[in-house]
Amino acid sequence: MGIAIEIVKITIDSIPTELKNPTVKRIHLEIGKLAAVVPTSLQFCFEVVTKDTILEGAKLHIEEIPVWAKCKNCGYFWMATEPIFMCKKCDSGAVEIVSGQELDITGIEVDDNGDDSSDYLF
Ligand SMILES: [Zn+2]
Repeated sequence: MGIAIEIVKITIDSIPTELKNPTVKRIHLEIGKLAAVVPTSLQFCFEVVTKDTILEGAKLHIEEIPVWAKCKNCGYFWMATEPIFMCKKCDSGAVEIVSGQELDITGIEVDDNGDDSSDYLF
């Protein structure tokens, strides 16, 4: 639930104040598989917290980022499928997680409900 509220806050802060009557249509997110976010439950929480706000009805477009790990010992680089991080090549525990922990808003689509009905993408 906290993440959904955070997304709502960031989105509202990102909307230019000159838009008179904005409606948020879609929010693009990048979520790493290690971020411990289940997309379907995030979508559900998002719908609950956006009720009666300008974000009501907005869709979440979630792109899942795979986990990439790199061994600091031998330099081996691989896509990890489970959260046990030992080098597959040399069994070293000196493994660095290169990606998979992100939770980023990469874009927000807003309809300003104005005459030209143009969309804004941030
Ligand atoms: Zn290694």
